[in-house]
Amino acid sequence: MDGQAGATTVIYVGGTGRSGSTMLANVLGEVPGFVSVGEVRFLWQRGIGQNRLCGCGEHFADCPFWSDVLDLTLGPDGDTDRKELAARLHTELEARTRLRTLPQHLRGSAGGGGHDELSTVLARLYGAISAVAGADVVVDSSKLPTYAAVLDDTDGIDLRVAHFLRDPRAAAYSWQRKKLQPDLGPGAFMERRGAGKSAVLWSVWNRSLEMLAGRRPNAYARVTYEEFLADPREQAQSLLDTFALDGDLTSVFAGPDTVRLSMNHTVAGNPSRHQQGLVPLVVDSEWRDQMSATDRGAVAALTWPTLRRYGYHLRS
Ligand SMILES: [Zn+2]
Repeated sequence: MDGQAGATTVIYVGGTGRSGSTMLANVLGEVPGFVSVGEVRFLWQRGIGQNRLCGCGEHFADCPFWSDVLDLTLGPDGDTDRKELAARLHTELEARTRLRTLPQHLRGSAGGGGHDELSTVLARLYGAISAVAGADVVVDSSKLPTYAAVLDDTDGIDLRVAHFLRDPRAAAYSWQRKKLQPDLGPGAFMERRGAGKSAVLWSVWNRSLEMLAGRRPNAYARVTYEEFLADPREQAQSLLDTFALDGDLTSVFAGPDTVRLSMNHTVAGNPSRHQQGLVPLVVDSEWRDQMSATDRGAVAALTWPTLRRYGYHLRS
């Protein structure tokens, strides 16, 4: 909810998978007074339930940052059965964020109302992240439009949505590639998705996010992966200006297209979240040479009205 005194400011990086949202979130997380914590919607399942890797390299249960955050959110460990509670919260979150809930979110009748168990825990959680990190702004790269709607309905959260888009052909190509996922253990790969499914979800989720968040002035900004990488510092500044947030980008960039990334405590996300040090920000355009003409054509056909809406051309 907007403009509440004492509310935690959350920048929500939204859109679809394989669009570079991890990169944008981690750049914003380097702004002094900001903290990037990854895809928080997976905290209950992948973090507490499955004990996967935190961005700091520790398994979730061994990470001191999340240990402090959860103590503040849920009370000291041992007082409650955290795995059982996490499983319950994840089930509730899944029920309130799946694709079929979209019409209810768009009508503003998705329930919750900000006073149920999930909303209460979420309000405490983001407040605890802010307190433990000593940060005024929490950056969440959960992406999913329906989770943005759940957070927006939560008392105690002041949500700003950074809608991040990438050419749907590039995203579809990325979904097809075999990519290691250290999170799942040695030799495991990230989930893959066919070009058709990727294209349909690209249109649905992007238009939904715009419809859910785009009506609110100063709390919604849209930028494409391609625009961002053409001038990262200028685009990051423009996002902060739209959200009316003070943030000094001086220490974030080591050059026009090089960012300084420090260790983070991100829950889930692209394996690139583990990168640290001086990291070049460059456009990955491998799809232009490597993607089949059939797949390109199929993705363009399946996305075209939305593709054009967001400034992309039918012919890549
Ligand atoms: Zn950690």
